[in-house]
Amino acid sequence: MRIVALTFHDIVPNGNDAAIKSDEFYRITTSEFEKLLSQLRKLGYQTVSSRTFRAWQQGSGTLPERTVVLTFDDGHANHFELVAPLLVRYRFTGTFFVTSGFIGTPGYMNWEQLRKLVFLGMEIGSHGATHRPLTQLARAAVVDELASSKTLLEQRLGIPVQAMAAPGGFWNHTIADASKEAGYEAVWVSTIGTNGKETSPLALRRVVVRQPFSVERIVAMVEGWQPAFWWAANQQLLIRLLKRVLGVYWYEQLKRRLVPNA
Ligand SMILES: [Zn+2]
Repeated sequence: MRIVALTFHDIVPNGNDAAIKSDEFYRITTSEFEKLLSQLRKLGYQTVSSRTFRAWQQGSGTLPERTVVLTFDDGHANHFELVAPLLVRYRFTGTFFVTSGFIGTPGYMNWEQLRKLVFLGMEIGSHGATHRPLTQLARAAVVDELASSKTLLEQRLGIPVQAMAAPGGFWNHTIADASKEAGYEAVWVSTIGTNGKETSPLALRRVVVRQPFSVERIVAMVEGWQPAFWWAANQQLLIRLLKRVLGVYWYEQLKRRLVPNA
């Protein structure tokens, strides 16, 4: 059994389509998001949280035959205002990776909203404390970034925080080790692919949902259709090559130039 996890970033109100298409890769509109949820529901998909997925990996519990993991990065206020009501309407669940240092700042969820997400049965994970690319930090700073965000979320929300998503998708084996040391048992990255029982829990693959948005393309991947993965993997290879050739700083500069607000 192979499980696909989807990554969403900001999801914006309808009517912003024109602005999105011209300058924003990682934003989709509420109606695009709902189209995808509706199609997944029609195809009989059910969702599980990171925690339930990990329990299955460890041999406790089974997963529905058609399972997808929905993850949301960065802790945008729209995740509470627009995403959560739709997930509830479709009886889906999500795992929200929150940057602890952004909580309560303009455009991001506050503690009260995060508590309500917990109440709705959503899982909260960490997305670091400052959203700095972890691969650029010394190992001790990485552990500190990951441990401090975990502790803060656990204390303020009264829940265990076991999963984290690497900011910007910047990940390597040092980050994996540091995550383990900081007490995480699931690390979600931006490497495209599917997850099985044998997939390392410290490098769980995700498919990033972005523009140009196509329900068919995303569903093809959720269904495990290989050509969709090859096509996307080649794109990702190019991105990884650019990151390596340019280095993180220049890659980010290039991305900012091409894709403002990314
Ligand atoms: Zn992020």
